[in-house]
Amino acid sequence: MEKCEKESTTYDPFLERLVRETDTSSDRIRAKLSNRYEWCFCELCWRSTEYSISMAAPKVFKRLQRGNVKVVPLTDSIRTAAQKKADALVARYEKALNGEFDRHEHSRMLTRYCDMLEMQGDFSVAAFREHVERRMLISTWAKHGELLRPTDLPGQPEGAAKPSKLYCEAHNPRRSDDSRRTYQRDRRFARQYEDLIAQIWSQEVATLPSWNIEAHAYVRREAYRLLQALKSPTSEMDDLLTQGIMSQAEIARKLGVSRQAVSAAIKQRRQKQTSG
Ligand SMILES: [Zn+2]
Repeated sequence: MEKCEKESTTYDPFLERLVRETDTSSDRIRAKLSNRYEWCFCELCWRSTEYSISMAAPKVFKRLQRGNVKVVPLTDSIRTAAQKKADALVARYEKALNGEFDRHEHSRMLTRYCDMLEMQGDFSVAAFREHVERRMLISTWAKHGELLRPTDLPGQPEGAAKPSKLYCEAHNPRRSDDSRRTYQRDRRFARQYEDLIAQIWSQEVATLPSWNIEAHAYVRREAYRLLQALKSPTSEMDDLLTQGIMSQAEIARKLGVSRQAVSAAIKQRRQKQTSG
């Protein structure tokens, strides 16, 4: 019979020691990560979560005796070896494109070495090189140890500042005193923030491509700026909006957001008044 689960401990690069591995992902986090467009955004703003950033930053570790682990540095000789492999593959790909092998060789190479989704239809030599260079670097480096991402490391003790799946660095309450304050301030308006985002989407649905991650970032950013302006203790914007003294365009200019965003805020306020 095969041994189940090869490891029950894992290396925590922040604590710099091995920790017990358990699945602590809550339903909330699971739901968030399953959303194709929302998973990478901080709950409270438009920035990327720490988790989504660390996904792009793998590291190689070496297990030592007695459970200790050390980071394997990415040296020049690893880089050189990786570059050689990449160059050879690119040369072969070029030949394949020129029909020097059988006619399926270039597509075989693409499926073997590249992420087809990421390539977005660009199968040029330059695009192939970009993918292969990155992949060869990681795989050559990984031969010297074990490839881990900070995000592969759930189940750390309370208080450990692991990459947050919900918040950006500025909003992760465990990151610093500053970030805890920002978190506490903005968390109170989280519901309102979500509503503003939905309102802006409904206003700009005809002009914004909802399949584009940039559009999502744009809407979240507009909503965040608007919310900050509305919640600022020195701002009378809330009153002005209520009384309808300023025009939407005027308010938008003052706040530095789009008129659609202001219009969304006014709608939200009306809905709240009629429902409350
Ligand atoms: Zn944030």
